[in-house]
Amino acid sequence: MEFSSKLLENAVNEMSQLPGIGKRTALRLVLHLLRQPKEQTNDLSKALTQMREEIKFCKSCHNISDVAVCEICANPHRKTDVICVVEDIRDVMAIENTSTFRGLYHVLGGKISPMDGVGPHDLNINSLVEKVKEGEIKELIFALSSTMEGDTTNFYIYKQIQELEVITSTISRGISVGDELEYADEVTLGRSIVNRVPFEASLKM
Ligand SMILES: [Zn+2]
Repeated sequence: MEFSSKLLENAVNEMSQLPGIGKRTALRLVLHLLRQPKEQTNDLSKALTQMREEIKFCKSCHNISDVAVCEICANPHRKTDVICVVEDIRDVMAIENTSTFRGLYHVLGGKISPMDGVGPHDLNINSLVEKVKEGEIKELIFALSSTMEGDTTNFYIYKQIQELEVITSTISRGISVGDELEYADEVTLGRSIVNRVPFEASLKM
């Protein structure tokens, strides 16, 4: 792609670093911004910079938050002895939308994936095991995507806490819970949490 402006080329290159954005789409977006009032570009860059500088991760569940302890963990009406283990904030949002779960979450920040160079120590697994060791948690619900990486991660955590006094369950999978939780419809996802199965049973299936 030949550019008549280095500035334009830089902007297009930066934009095309984003997933799913090729050079052509990046050019279209950049030209769109150029046609809009300057404030729109300023607001966009300000929002991105501010998010990057100021965002925090909840010190209890590792969910993305604006404060040290997220709204969910700080809510006195939530059950603190049931913890739903998820990959990232999109899963928290998807499950919250179902309004079926009143416990807390633990956000791993991904799943074990040797192919992508992600090992157990790159994820928030230790803090979860420590939390369980404190002995206040009655149940862990695994709600990772039903991929090989998701299963590997579930099993790894299960092995770490197997000997501890905690019930492990997994969201039911027979029904059409897709690869990614965020794409499952609310009713299906809600039902799969309510009808969760013991983790050991899921291993034998
Ligand atoms: Zn939290």
